[in-house]
Amino acid sequence: MNRRPRDGHTDWCGQDHRCGLGEHRSDEIVVDVAGLSRAVLVRVRTASGREHAEVRVRVALASSDLAARRQLVGLLGDLRHAVTRAALTAQPRPGRAGR
Ligand SMILES: [Zn+2]
Repeated sequence: MNRRPRDGHTDWCGQDHRCGLGEHRSDEIVVDVAGLSRAVLVRVRTASGREHAEVRVRVALASSDLAARRQLVGLLGDLRHAVTRAALTAQPRPGRAGR
């Protein structure tokens, strides 16, 4: 993912008002599931050259507080698992550095 930017932008950069202050930002990728949940992903390259994924998630909660709390516990557990898995994937594996 170390493509060189053309004209100062990456090939995936949205090149509008969101791109600035040393960051390049892609258009939003929206995943909408039956109006009950929605995720918005933006690819970002910071001024240091490091790339990140920004993800914003919206999930419809149950009307009862207890059920909503259970949903939140499950959601946070799932997010923790997803973020951990993605972070570990970004780490070079022993013996494979530089490939
Ligand atoms: Zn840009």
